Amino acid sequence: MLGLREKQVDDRLAFIKDYIGADNAATGSEVDSNSNVTHKTVATMEAELYKFYTVQLNRKLVMDKLKKFDDITDYDGCYLADMYASDIKNHIIYVHDETSLKPYCASITLYPFLLEGTKCMGGVSNAPTNLQSFCGSFVNLVYQVASNFAGAIATVEFLMYFDYFARKQYGKEYMRTNEKEIKQELQGVVYGLNQPASARGDQSVFWNISVFDKPYMAEMFDNFYFPDDTKPDLESLYELQKFFMEWFRLERKKELLTFPVLTASLLTDEKGFVDKEFRNFCADQMSKGHSFFIYMSDSVDSLASCCRLRNELADNTFSYSLGAGGVVTGSAQVITLNMNRLVQYYVQLHDKNLDYRFDEFLIGFIQDVQKYLMATKEVYKDYIKAGLLPAYTAGFMDIDKQFLTLGVNGLAEAAEFLGLTVGNNKRYKAFLARVLGIFKDENKKALETYGCRFNTEFVPAENLGVKNAKWDKEEGLEAKRDCYNSYFYLVEDPDCSILDKFELYSHDVCDNLDGGSALHLNLEQLPDKAQAVRLFELARWNGTPYWTTNVLCTICNKCGRIDPVTRKVCKHCGSTDVDYGTRVIGYLKRVTNFSDARQLEASRRFYTK
Ligand SMILES: [Zn+2]
Repeated sequence: MLGLREKQVDDRLAFIKDYIGADNAATGSEVDSNSNVTHKTVATMEAELYKFYTVQLNRKLVMDKLKKFDDITDYDGCYLADMYASDIKNHIIYVHDETSLKPYCASITLYPFLLEGTKCMGGVSNAPTNLQSFCGSFVNLVYQVASNFAGAIATVEFLMYFDYFARKQYGKEYMRTNEKEIKQELQGVVYGLNQPASARGDQSVFWNISVFDKPYMAEMFDNFYFPDDTKPDLESLYELQKFFMEWFRLERKKELLTFPVLTASLLTDEKGFVDKEFRNFCADQMSKGHSFFIYMSDSVDSLASCCRLRNELADNTFSYSLGAGGVVTGSAQVITLNMNRLVQYYVQLHDKNLDYRFDEFLIGFIQDVQKYLMATKEVYKDYIKAGLLPAYTAGFMDIDKQFLTLGVNGLAEAAEFLGLTVGNNKRYKAFLARVLGIFKDENKKALETYGCRFNTEFVPAENLGVKNAKWDKEEGLEAKRDCYNSYFYLVEDPDCSILDKFELYSHDVCDNLDGGSALHLNLEQLPDKAQAVRLFELARWNGTPYWTTNVLCTICNKCGRIDPVTRKVCKHCGSTDVDYGTRVIGYLKRVTNFSDARQLEASRRFYTK
């Protein structure tokens, strides 16, 4: 065992001193601040302390695996490994959560939990037999599974199982006869999962769940069987979903509950929404200040279960050993390309007229990144083989169903550099469609070549948007703002209307983005129900697959009440000592807990009237 050198010890002590002096946990982080840590504690500091070391070890592990994919023979050493290191160093690519040894994010099946409880994950609970044991061990299970992943955990089936145990215990009318008990159980789960976990450096779990309209639900769960051979009661589940959304909305007036991130999936066809009642319900919730993501599709071919991910369903057949196949998905790893830098490098070599040579230039980088991702997957496969990631060995997750994800950041800034106007216009939309289309084609080809599933997404880039802008400025590249946009539009642009945004996120662009991106509508006031319905129709009309609304909620520092409306004065106690909450990108948080750079960006966001 080697001891640290004196210089290294001094360096870490200096970090501790800096951390103590930082404004909040996000700002104190030197490598990769966690977006859902709220308070600075010794646990958050400890989690930060050795991140640098982990990054270096992770990098070396991937570089070693890259030898397997290297086909350059007239080079001393491994060409790909050297490229990987240099692409990172040159900030062309960014490897997400390189500070963690774990795979990225997962939408898991809960079926093994029904059969074996948490014991298959090394826990102590047997298979749940009633609602209390289900809810109690569910919280433990999610913490156990989350310890296998760096990012979000989605449990798409949570409400379906909840409904099953509630019916079993209280009968079919449980929402009416036992409302109090049902709310208590929901409260136990939701508050339990919003707790900062000391084992995770005081982060809570990134927990996501889904609700479905009737046709979506039927497609996802109609062929599902519980271990006692009964099928889900979809009518009852439908009612529970509505009950949950209403309860969660009201609960968020008491506490700024970040999790679960909720996505509502709705099926559309040429005539409109197949389940209009559910659309109306969602619109009503939205008008009352509930914030959730909406995923819309013409077929139940994909699932949006993380705060941004849209994943094609690999296989939606039910199996008695693994449960519903369609819910298992996620992203094993994400590597993001800084498009602003790439485009400027290209222009330095050629010119601003992006001809076929640009396609070739970009394809070269995409193909390298695909190999970097496959090498990372090899590292994870070693861990799985050794039993180090029990979520996989116990059947909650399957690495071959997880995507390898290429992230995109700085694309709006690249367009600006090229002289395009970022906004709802033909030239810019064609640029987006072309660049994203290149990724999509390469992902398709790579599936054929390697049998690996790749996708591309506009990453939220909560920290990366700030870093890329800073790195590019330092390099002397053109970077017009301190934080690159996470959207197709410019977040500070007052001229980009709601209609413009929907038209930007339309079929012709979004169809090229196989991993998705959420349109965030920042609104100055809550829409009324009719306006909210109109938003749904606008989304359908334009083919916007994934979107949400954000209205700053008002948090009173005196009486503690949370109001979904943006106000200067608390409507309950009249105090002017108020704070605001909104999404950093995906996650709802108090703005003063954002990192300094994100607070600055948040203050520039334009909220449409
Ligand atoms: Zn108040």
